[in-house]
Amino acid sequence: MQSAAIALRSKGGRIGFVPTMGYLHEGHMSLIEAAREKAGKVVVSIFVNPIQFGPNEDYERYPHDFDKDRSACEKADVDCVFYPAGDEMYPRNFSTFINEETYSKRLCGISRPNHFRGVLTVVGKLFNIVRPDFAVFGQKDAQQVAVIRKMVDDLHFPVEIIVVPTVREEDGLAMSSRNHYLSRHQREDAAVISQALFRAKEMVGSGIVNTDRVEAEVSNILQTKRRVRVIYVSIVDLRTMEARREIVPGESLLAVAAWVDEIRLIDNILL
Ligand code: AMP
Repeated sequence: MQSAAIALRSKGGRIGFVPTMGYLHEGHMSLIEAAREKAGKVVVSIFVNPIQFGPNEDYERYPHDFDKDRSACEKADVDCVFYPAGDEMYPRNFSTFINEETYSKRLCGISRPNHFRGVLTVVGKLFNIVRPDFAVFGQKDAQQVAVIRKMVDDLHFPVEIIVVPTVREEDGLAMSSRNHYLSRHQREDAAVISQALFRAKEMVGSGIVNTDRVEAEVSNILQTKRRVRVIYVSIVDLRTMEARREIVPGESLLAVAAWVDEIRLIDNILL
């Protein structure tokens, strides 16, 4: 891949990179389109990264369909799909990890203690392998964006980070490869997550700046669905993921993680 990237670059233009775990949906495709618009060459990686999953999480059953992903990439005019095997990325003697120690410990970092260490390690590796000029990520994973930006700043990765808005289903549910796990009833209940986020945005639009009030309303809405259990509802600074007492328009993010039965979903909205 390093040699291929050098060859791609010599053919001209900047390299735009879209890292994914595959099972591509319209959210991923909007990242690829954003890269296509800005880059001479687009590289997409498909790699389900074992080290970002906890011991009882869904690594073993994470959905995949490489042939479908590859044709979606071909149709979207992607120049190169990087699809490494697990033991190529993590040979048996692998022992170096990237750990961000502040932003990554908040929100999802509380219930998924090694998650961002896994994410940063693989993203750092992928940046060194693909050597992109810029990389595109989704606002859907807002904490991931904050933690990656921090790594890029702290460790001087020469990669520009571009963020693309969350792509949603018609009823508001944020697109996610994990939506594949939802049964019809779970899918119906899951729609409450985005409904609660939209309600919060409305409250802020009407002039409410108190985070407790907005968080309480969002939790109440989520609790109306039997299958939904809140992991966190938190209004934080968009850049650092630190909890805020007052909403600052354009700087505050409402982030939610919830179980829909045994399926863990996250979503967020800029306030
Ligand atoms: P994943 O394959 O879930 O690791 O996601 C790969 C990239 O796609 C990440 O940057 C995600 O934030 C982004 N992404 C996932 N879902 C969406 C969505 N619904 N809208 C926009 N970007 C998304």
